[in-house]
Amino acid sequence: MLSEFRNESFTDFSCPVNQEAMVSAIAYVKTQLGKEYPLVIGGEAVESSAAIISTNPGAPQEVVGRFAKSTSQSAEAAMQAALSAFQSWSKVPAVQRARCLLKAAAIMRRRRLELAAWIICEIGKNWVEADADVAEAIDFCEFYAREMIRISQPQPLVPSDGEENDLTYLPLGVGIVIPPWNFPLAILVGMTTASIVCGNTVVLKPSSETPVIGYQFVKIMEEAGLPPGVINYLPGSGSEVGDFLVQHPKTRFVAFTGSKEVGLRINELAAKTQSGQIWIKRVVSEMGGKDSIIIDSGVDADLAADGIVASAFGFQGQKCSACSRVIVHKDLYDQVLAKVVAGTKKIVVGPAEDKRTFMGPVASQSAYNSILKYIEIGKKEGRLMCGGEAISTAQGGFFIQPTVIADASPTSRIAQEEIFGPVLTFIKANSWQQALEIGNNTEFGLTGAAYSTDRRHLEQARAEFHVGNLYLNRKCTGALVGIHPFGGFNMSGTDSKGGGRDYLLLFTQAKVVCERF
Ligand code: NAP
Repeated sequence: MLSEFRNESFTDFSCPVNQEAMVSAIAYVKTQLGKEYPLVIGGEAVESSAAIISTNPGAPQEVVGRFAKSTSQSAEAAMQAALSAFQSWSKVPAVQRARCLLKAAAIMRRRRLELAAWIICEIGKNWVEADADVAEAIDFCEFYAREMIRISQPQPLVPSDGEENDLTYLPLGVGIVIPPWNFPLAILVGMTTASIVCGNTVVLKPSSETPVIGYQFVKIMEEAGLPPGVINYLPGSGSEVGDFLVQHPKTRFVAFTGSKEVGLRINELAAKTQSGQIWIKRVVSEMGGKDSIIIDSGVDADLAADGIVASAFGFQGQKCSACSRVIVHKDLYDQVLAKVVAGTKKIVVGPAEDKRTFMGPVASQSAYNSILKYIEIGKKEGRLMCGGEAISTAQGGFFIQPTVIADASPTSRIAQEEIFGPVLTFIKANSWQQALEIGNNTEFGLTGAAYSTDRRHLEQARAEFHVGNLYLNRKCTGALVGIHPFGGFNMSGTDSKGGGRDYLLLFTQAKVVCERF
């Protein structure tokens, strides 16, 4: 019998033994950089001439891996392999499918620091963030395995005399899984394992920024005994191969996490019925955010500032849940701003490989350019309090100072558009009511936090702050599997609540059989 689900604990890097182990893991991964990787279709390695080159954003000349790049031809082959594997995988008992996930979790636990080291090198997470990414991936495997076993049990229905009624959750078919780079293991693993544990097969197209860490997972699933063709691994350009896969008539569902622009495009393309298509494609789309922390008068300014700095600058502000706007009651505005600026100035920026680093590089040249552009806009729209510049290094990494801009208008661009980098905007509110109204004034609705000591204000925030994940008197990042099911409102997506008890139902269809005796 399985034990109750419990979240994986985080590695304590203040412990010298763990520090040494992490240094060794990074040293090991450095010896593995620059290799060539194939596509994986139907369990076979498939080479291709075109390459995706994954580099270290802290030292872009360091090649993490070279990948074969998929074309519409290889995408078609992956679809056929997934269709063929679906015939048998969909009939494998749920508990056996769940065991593959449990085995994968055990392998990841054994390789935990090595996987974290790949994340550090490929996308620039610091030690703590990279370790948490792996812990979350393990949690997804453990949680969805148990959830699949739970929903495969007889489901409660109202009894009816003279009949037996039975509701079962069936898989859908072939899904296209498209994750982002910012949780290169956790989100990729979460969407993929949820899909396959339900009996579906998938074509997994990782982000072009992080194909190597995704490949590690595909090999782990192979080692865990997953049959060939259940996961087909297809690195390739989203705009080239993504459209082909989304529009394919045999695609049954798409599980996407990424930007609003791409999510909406996928939703639109998937809605168009193709010749030969006999179902309505299901789209599970988790998208961007413009997340706010609102601060009431009378709160502990130190506590609030700590929560704001951690939420805004963890992983360089590149979390969909990251705080990018602080809305503070006028009575506490100057005090909170001063403390946040002081905290921000203490942030250590440097190579992610270095254990002292809090903020590593941003993900890519294009992220770097876009964030710096927003900083220039912010300098015009508000008052630059700290940061505001790129940091040049000998290796040419994509480092940017953590930046705070004060006195922005609630409708300015930096207060409305997702920047996805280490840029924090302060907005002053005259009252709690106004702070809440500003908190709700974007097209997004992903996370938010509200700090107050007034019970009525907290209740008002509970009722009126329109976000999928609301935190009261704590930071707005750090959702945990099973504890904080995750997903946003409005243009933040379909509110799928990954890591929650409802999530697997999105990858199934319920069938009811009634037999009259
Ligand atoms: P992105 O640019 O939208 O890319 C996400 C994925 O979509 C990548 O694998 C990308 O592939 C692929 N893609 C691009 N164009 C495509 C197309 N036409 N058809 C199909 N796939 C396509 O997002 P990102 O920069 O990776 O991630 C950052 C975004 O993700 C932010 O907006 C963040 O808020 C959001 N996010 C949301 C959540 C959430 O739970 N709501 C969680 C994490 C991140 P290529 O890499 O090859 O372009």
